[in-house]
Amino acid sequence: MKKVLITGAAGFLGSHLCDRFIKEGFHVIGMDNLITGDLKNIEHLFKLEQFEFYHHDVTKFVHVPGELDYILHFASPASPIDYLKIPIQTLKVGALGTHNLLGLAKEKKARILIASTSEVYGDPLVHPQTEEYYGNVNTIGPRGVYDEAKRFQESITMAYHRFHGLETRIVRIFNTYGPRMRLNDGRVIPAFMGQALRGEDLTVFGDGSQTRSFCYVDDEIEGIFRLLMSDYVLPVNIGNPHEITIKDFAEEIIKLTGTTQKIIYKPLPQDDPLVRQPDITKAKEILGWEPKVERAEGMQKTFDYFKTLSKEELEKTEHRDFTSRNKK
Ligand code: NAD
Ligand code: UDP
Repeated sequence: MKKVLITGAAGFLGSHLCDRFIKEGFHVIGMDNLITGDLKNIEHLFKLEQFEFYHHDVTKFVHVPGELDYILHFASPASPIDYLKIPIQTLKVGALGTHNLLGLAKEKKARILIASTSEVYGDPLVHPQTEEYYGNVNTIGPRGVYDEAKRFQESITMAYHRFHGLETRIVRIFNTYGPRMRLNDGRVIPAFMGQALRGEDLTVFGDGSQTRSFCYVDDEIEGIFRLLMSDYVLPVNIGNPHEITIKDFAEEIIKLTGTTQKIIYKPLPQDDPLVRQPDITKAKEILGWEPKVERAEGMQKTFDYFKTLSKEELEKTEHRDFTSRNKK
């Protein structure tokens, strides 16, 4: 049985990856320090012999006994709210955490896939974004802690590939959504759906003319799986090119949820990218991959998930209190 280590296993994407690898017949080791994740995302796996969970912070030395065939490094705060609240941890997990996992991969002769992001393109001046575009990132802005951690992550991964001959893969993930997103993580889909469910107005930032392109989680996981199994070393965009303005998107959510609330406007956060759309030519050519799930279908499934949450979870709009960890 092939063995895979998945970091960030209790998070949104990590938990779906665990499910996928279990389904493919792998022995899965999930690792997480639960800073933004939740054990309820993987509790259904605890009864399986094929699954193990290590509660561990990957910025500290990572030890896994025995052999390992694959590592998928998905541990990192991923929503703007989270990485603004825990900026140092975000930088550390991208830098020190990635270094530890590359070292582990080298030791175990395992193939490693690193979760990068469309944020490496920053507020892009090239549209749609191809993998060749170097990006437009404000290193010292509030999003810099995430963007630069991810850019460093890509650099050190390529260095381990070139210098040590390590088998590496880099996926640049564009906005992905689906069941198990945290309702209060501040990302636009849980934000709008939570507001609709609580009977609050939908908060559009700026004038809502900024765009995003949303990919359903099942499509994203399929793309990541194919990339891991491919022999392609350079970064690959995996996302859905179907682009929409945030204002139009808010209107879609109003229709989908049937809420009688309206849109209200709030200031646009600093350095919020004005456009974002993946060019997925490479993924199509190299992996034979393209997204299959239409937004209407994916959003319905996601809304159905949020509807199952308890009233208590729904009301928990306060973001986790990270302040004590941030104090000097
Ligand atoms: P998430 O917050 O749901 O999951 C991240 C997980 O990593 C959490 O369970 C958290 O507890 C864990 N974690 C964080 N720091 C850790 C540490 N030091 N040690 C161990 N575990 C740690 O976020 P997600 O949306 O599932 O994102 C997963 C990965 O995918 C991240 O690397 C993120 O940058 C990347 N990504 C996601 C998206 C998206 O749209 N979801 C887009 C681009 C990139
Ligand atoms: N956004 C919004 N209202 C919200 C949350 C987000 O208008 O309540 C906007 C945000 O400004 C951005 C887009 O939605 O332009 C996507 O934001 P998200 O935080 O999901 O992720 P990003 O793509 O910015 O990393």
